[in-house]
Amino acid sequence: MVHGYKGVKFQNWARTYGCCPEMYYQPTSVEEVREVLALARQQNKRVKVVGGGHSPSDIACTDGFMIHMGKMNRVLQVDTEKKQVTVEAGILLSDLHPQLGKHGLALSNLGAVSDVTAGGVIGSGTHNTGIKHGILPTLSHPVAPEKQCLNFTRIWFGELVMNTDCRLRSAFKTCLQYVLAWTHAVFPFAFCRGQVLDNLDSHLKKSEYFRFLWFPHSENVSVIYQDHTNKPPSSSANWFWDYAIGFYLLEFLLWISSFLPGLVGWINRFFFWLLFTRKRESSNLSHEIFTYECRFKQHVQDWAIPREKTKEALLELKAVLETHPKMVAHFPVEVRFTRGDDILLSPCFQRDSCYMNIIMYRPYGKDIPRLDYWLAYETIMKKVGGRPHWAKAHNCTRKDFEKMYPAFSKFCAIREKLDPTGMFLNAYLEKVFY
Ligand SMILES: Cc1cc2nc3c(=O)[nH]c(=O)nc-3n(C[C@H](O)[C@H](O)[C@H](O)COP(=O)(O)OP(=O)(O)OC[C@H]3O[C@@H](n4cnc5c(N)ncnc54)[C@H](O)[C@@H]3O)c2cc1C
Repeated sequence: MVHGYKGVKFQNWARTYGCCPEMYYQPTSVEEVREVLALARQQNKRVKVVGGGHSPSDIACTDGFMIHMGKMNRVLQVDTEKKQVTVEAGILLSDLHPQLGKHGLALSNLGAVSDVTAGGVIGSGTHNTGIKHGILPTLSHPVAPEKQCLNFTRIWFGELVMNTDCRLRSAFKTCLQYVLAWTHAVFPFAFCRGQVLDNLDSHLKKSEYFRFLWFPHSENVSVIYQDHTNKPPSSSANWFWDYAIGFYLLEFLLWISSFLPGLVGWINRFFFWLLFTRKRESSNLSHEIFTYECRFKQHVQDWAIPREKTKEALLELKAVLETHPKMVAHFPVEVRFTRGDDILLSPCFQRDSCYMNIIMYRPYGKDIPRLDYWLAYETIMKKVGGRPHWAKAHNCTRKDFEKMYPAFSKFCAIREKLDPTGMFLNAYLEKVFY
């Protein structure tokens, strides 16, 4: 019999959301998961699965039964011919990379961190950048024989979970291991507007994993190119960050600025200068280039908007900050691009998209007022037809989603069929579906 624990407190990575599940389980097999589910059904309890706990929202929270997937973390099969790997959904991507590497394989795209699980990145629609590349769920497909787990419900937020076993195992398409070269160019905003925003297509074609960062309260933009290379791995050190001095200084300065908000613009400009004014290039295995060690707890918002709305949305955001000098925005605003797909609740459903990520750090755990900035951002995102990232906190409800997603009711019908009693719901999902 699988053992459950009382009194466990769950907090997400950023310590911005948490909960006290009535029971906490760490099953080691599909059979043990079934036991927990049978018990939950018997006792009329709700269930939520959690992976790496990195979602910056309450999406993984529950006061019912929590199933932590950390002990279901094996690689089950690697098919080098088909370039496909089958894993248990609780595997951390940081553990998957070396195992794929042994077979000369890698994932063709990744988000910014690897301390996240296969189930988590698929279930919440994690993305990176590159207009030829879809969000991470497009790399996955359900493991046979659970055929009833339809392809287009690949984003599942811990919902639709264990009626089928498919959420416990996932197959990923992989590709041959590759080295990426990272380089960047620095532009004043006005130049970026002409060169990048007015010529987005040529930039998206020019670089496979193209993105750019704007530093709010400044005219500074850094354009980042990441592309396949035959060069061997190498890196040019940045002593300031590599020896962590930058992190300590930034956290301290951000904390000071919580008393003197006027300093934020100066901090943004100073760190742009430190990070980007020197030429810095590196090449490394793909997962080393895509991911970084994120040391700062933070609040984030990240909406997918139609790609062609990138310029309008960014200019509006900049204008709002300029007309409201007391509104504080930390750096950077990160702009990434993804290919459209056919997953019903994918923020990129049926359209190539631009993700515009905004951030507010929490120096030494301290929240800095962000509501005006958040509201202004959400208003712009909604106006240009945006859809919020599922893992990141937002204020949308079913009414909004019905407008945003042409296939919302189709998804709801599938959900209700697979989870008629609402056993896999939580407060976050109630807002989405009711
Ligand atoms: C520092 C940082 C950087 C990030 N960078 C990016 C980025 O570049 N791009 C991006 O898109 N996102 C990014 N994120 C968000 C992150 O990728 C997602 O929140 C992702 O879901 C985290 O995976 P996790 O394993 O921690 O999932 P959790 O937060 O544990 O869970 C997320 C959701 O998936 C469900 N779930 C988890 N495992 C399973 C399973 N086996 N079966 C069914 N449901 C399951 C949970 O119930 C929950 O609904 C970042 C987050 C942080 C903290």
